[in-house]
Amino acid sequence: MVTVKHKKFVSQFSMMGTLISLTLFEKNEKAVFDIYDYLQKMDDLFSANRPDSKLAEINRNAGIQPVKVSNECFSLISDAIRYSKKYSDSFNVLIGPLVKTWKIGFGGQNVPSQFEIIRDLKLVHPSRVVLDPVKQTVYLKDKGMQLDLGAIAKGYFADQIIKQLKEHDIDTGIINLGGNVQVLGNNPLSKDGYWGIGIRDSRFEDNQSAAIVHTKAKTFVTSGIKERYFKIGKKVYHHILSPQTGYPEKSDAIQVTIITDNSELAEVLSTVCFFRGTHRGKQLIDRLPNVEAIFINQKGQLITTKGLKSLGKGVYFYE
Ligand code: ADP
Ligand code: MG
Repeated sequence: MVTVKHKKFVSQFSMMGTLISLTLFEKNEKAVFDIYDYLQKMDDLFSANRPDSKLAEINRNAGIQPVKVSNECFSLISDAIRYSKKYSDSFNVLIGPLVKTWKIGFGGQNVPSQFEIIRDLKLVHPSRVVLDPVKQTVYLKDKGMQLDLGAIAKGYFADQIIKQLKEHDIDTGIINLGGNVQVLGNNPLSKDGYWGIGIRDSRFEDNQSAAIVHTKAKTFVTSGIKERYFKIGKKVYHHILSPQTGYPEKSDAIQVTIITDNSELAEVLSTVCFFRGTHRGKQLIDRLPNVEAIFINQKGQLITTKGLKSLGKGVYFYE
């Protein structure tokens, strides 16, 4: 007789404009409900599209006054600003005005006029944000400035959820926040404890993997341009916008997956690497400890960093 040692418990919620799923290997309804509540609370705070979110309040008060925020709100925004200062020519959370002007993926999308682009490019400077750690306030100094945490927030949430699972004494599981995947602990369904994580080629609708990575606990974060875009004639306009030109960034990559321990960092690096392209992106990641990347370029070729050991046929091993 076969004894099933571990069952899978999969919970799914539709939230934050995406499908969120949590896979546990033990029944723990309390943990599932707590995480659901947590994500709901985060959506209330950080939604870029809801007028009653905390983020909307900060944006509405740009050029007017500082806004007091909670601990976790301050912590995510401080991280986002710190990374935006470090990588301001690529990853930049002050991109909000351009995101709103282009409306890519939200209907009513169009190519903005040069006037609108120039106007918005004046509002993307992270140095114009004042964070007061004592009063816990956020102030955008110029009217019209807007934070957009779309490229980082899910990473922060994933890291927090890992902490929460540990607090519930859960030592293994999978979190998938619409493509931001994080595994915790060892895989109880495999003999050696490794997980096999598939990376989709976003050019195709099917779920076939372009690469599979066998690894222990890690986060996998992908930025790509094949999911949110619009076309006019043959020209494609996608949703990763350059804070330097105001237009969708041209890159030889169509998607970048970052594999590391910290999901928030992975979110930032996936966007930064998209901007750098496959060659310079690989160079950046090869210099960083404990971070790997898989790029897919315009021709559909895989480019991988040096810590990923190829086992052939798109299968990789990462200790
Ligand atoms: P993906 O949606 O594939 O994960 P990103 O992580 O790069 O891609 O996030 C893209 C989202 O981040 C956009 O929808 C927008 O809200 C915001 N964004 C667009 N351009 C930038 C940028 N240069 N820096 C930071 N955020 C951006
Ligand atoms: Mg991202």
